[in-house]
Amino acid sequence: MNCGCSSSPLQGRHIQLKGIVQGVGMRPTVYRHATASGVRGWVLNGVGGVHIQAFGSAEELDQFEKLLHDGMPAQAVIESYYSAPLDEIPDKLPQNFSITPSDSGDGSEVFVSADLATCDSCVQELFDPENRRYRYPFINCTDCGPRFTVIADLPYDRPKTSMAEFPMCEACDREYHDPADRRFDAQPDACFMCGPQISWIDGRHTLCVNAETLEERRAQSDEVLKACCEALSAGRIVAIKGLGGFHLACDASNQEAVERLRQRKQRPNKAFAVMAPSLESIRSFAEFNHAEEQWLTGSVRPIVLLARNGKATLAPAVCNQLPEVGVMLPYTPLHHLLMHDYQKPLVMTSGNISGEPICTDETEALDKLGDIADAFLVHNRKILTRYDDSLIRLIDGELQIIRRARGLAPRALSLPQALLDQAAELGIQLKDCFAFGPEQKHCFCMTRNQHAFVSQHLGDLENQKTLQAFYEGEALYKKLFRITPQALSCDLHPEYLSRKYALRLHKETQLPLEEVQHHHAHLVACTAEHNYADRVLGIIFDGTGYAQTDADIKLWGGEIFEADWKDFIQLAQLEPLKLPGGKAAIQEPWRISYAYLTEQELLEHPGAQKFIGQLEEHKCSILQHMLKAELNCPKSSSAGRWFDMVSALLGIGLVSSYEGEAAILLEALAHTLTSKQKLALKQHKPLAQLELLAPCERKDNSTASVHSISMRPLVVAILDELAAGSSPAGIAWRFHCSFAEQIAQLAAKLAQKRNLSHIACSGGCFMNRILVQELRKQLNCQGLEVLLAHTLPPNDGGIAYGQAVCCLARQLTRVQ
Ligand code: ZN
Ligand code: ZN
Ligand code: FE
Repeated sequence: MNCGCSSSPLQGRHIQLKGIVQGVGMRPTVYRHATASGVRGWVLNGVGGVHIQAFGSAEELDQFEKLLHDGMPAQAVIESYYSAPLDEIPDKLPQNFSITPSDSGDGSEVFVSADLATCDSCVQELFDPENRRYRYPFINCTDCGPRFTVIADLPYDRPKTSMAEFPMCEACDREYHDPADRRFDAQPDACFMCGPQISWIDGRHTLCVNAETLEERRAQSDEVLKACCEALSAGRIVAIKGLGGFHLACDASNQEAVERLRQRKQRPNKAFAVMAPSLESIRSFAEFNHAEEQWLTGSVRPIVLLARNGKATLAPAVCNQLPEVGVMLPYTPLHHLLMHDYQKPLVMTSGNISGEPICTDETEALDKLGDIADAFLVHNRKILTRYDDSLIRLIDGELQIIRRARGLAPRALSLPQALLDQAAELGIQLKDCFAFGPEQKHCFCMTRNQHAFVSQHLGDLENQKTLQAFYEGEALYKKLFRITPQALSCDLHPEYLSRKYALRLHKETQLPLEEVQHHHAHLVACTAEHNYADRVLGIIFDGTGYAQTDADIKLWGGEIFEADWKDFIQLAQLEPLKLPGGKAAIQEPWRISYAYLTEQELLEHPGAQKFIGQLEEHKCSILQHMLKAELNCPKSSSAGRWFDMVSALLGIGLVSSYEGEAAILLEALAHTLTSKQKLALKQHKPLAQLELLAPCERKDNSTASVHSISMRPLVVAILDELAAGSSPAGIAWRFHCSFAEQIAQLAAKLAQKRNLSHIACSGGCFMNRILVQELRKQLNCQGLEVLLAHTLPPNDGGIAYGQAVCCLARQLTRVQ
């Protein structure tokens, strides 16, 4: 008790917390610790973070700070903690400790947490018949619930969220203002009487929640859920409005329903993610270890790619022959209710039509998804920003992010310390940078001071809809994070919409623009994450990316670089492949294989006959024509295309229905072997030795000469194996291992020559688990340190961050 007569004289302290301190229950936590230690004063969200002024005796203040240190909210990320005595004690001291309304400030160093999965306490209340929120589909508290999906502006307060239109009832208001309550200051807090409600739309028939009393409303809400479960059991497809957008759902054990969804969504093969009611349920079809379990049950709650266990609990059409299945547990109260009532895994795939962003509002969904979904489960809480589910997996216990969205974006990432130190040394402030990102798996990145905000995955930037999502994201990030771009950064590809937009803005604003080669951006994203500023050897295996070069290969993707954050030297690249028809060859990898066999005069090889037998003769002769006339046959060194090529040669990936399918099937084929079979095959010599061909001099200004890595021996070896009747699965496995081993040896040679100790491996091909594992093992054997992407995807989802770091690093050199 502080009455001014405590043992030591009254003191005042100012404490400031920076980092992820909003939307995580920071102020109530501070309040509780303050009252527990008898400290008076206030706490507020303001400029530069959470500010506290505390008054009490030295002992009380020390006790308060100790409690604060030991008892931060679970979701808070404290980046800096500052505490200093106040010079003056005001005459009129506060009577107690209070939470003062937010000071809107400039928000520059305040970060809100990303959306958080429903916490355990809320789940418990959700299923507690005695609780007034029993079965309320929008239950949440200071530890959980929507954040970025409902925010229009910072600071994070209810009037600036889509909850503004739901005035709290008396009971909720009481909790909200009661510092002892776990909903104290919880912005999206609501209940049956005052908050959002669900409804059911089935043709012209609708069910909604509009009764007077709590009991009646709950009964109506349950009717809606019951209708949804009945539809799902009947094999119908339901569009469900979730946290960051719509899902299309159907019973994951109903083969016919899943097939119908595939057909209507025009998604013949690409795997669907499932939502399962519990860990036990997941165990019935997939395996997971402790680390994977942590991700499945944590507050981010992404889709986790897990190894399937061979039990046929899920309909085969869910993920066809792939060895992994994407699984998530319920992350909103609505999902919890559905899963609890339905008790079986559901396919939960993004509610969009092919190529467009996911739908976020009812009108749009009814319009766009009307031909796919049989019925709609919707609600009236607006989704202000679209978020897909994040997708992750663990490789040898290490995180790999495949799609960074809900729960992860736009968490502030740190810019590499080495870059910040360099700027500090030069005495300059880093500019706010706007990096426009790639084309596919588009996301953009904005930086401010020491932080980078990488947007959520926005989809492929190839139509007006995704472009619109980009513009909206840009405006929102500038507003939320108070960013005024002073430098721009973009890809080199002349056809990328992101580049075209960057050029336009550059012209309009005269802001400096840095152009970053696609694969250099991949590399920088990886090394910057590791704060590795020195030169590295980069192995960038990717789909295609544009290069500005005088050489005739402008589509790169199988590159070995020596690079730092500013620039790169190309040391070697995979032997180029001709892509007859350009994009068409990416969709139909058989064209690439056929073109290669033709060029290398391997069409007569006995091992090629089965492949050729699968092709249509007239299509082959058209291809022959194109090759002879050099008609639309761009060359590419892309490693992704090499995987496609081998896949088609083995007769499995002749045509891809989605990006990377042929390569994914090739890896899946290798995984059909047992570990014993794999080990036995590893005893064999590598399929072939890959060689660095003598460098050809470049006409352009690159000083180094580039080696070509001849792939012919590997192709001939594969044909020989095929001719000898070896199993395609065995060949697929040996191809992966031999390729990784040979690349590792070449890389080691180059690293030694260039005196480099670290190898950065990035690019879309590193989503191939075998390639990651084998290449790393082999490089480690050569005594090399391997850097892999963990906080951002190795695929194009990492490009924007790489562009931003490269831009800032170059700007520093310009100043020097
Ligand atoms: Zn909660
Ligand atoms: Zn209420
Ligand atoms: Fe790429």
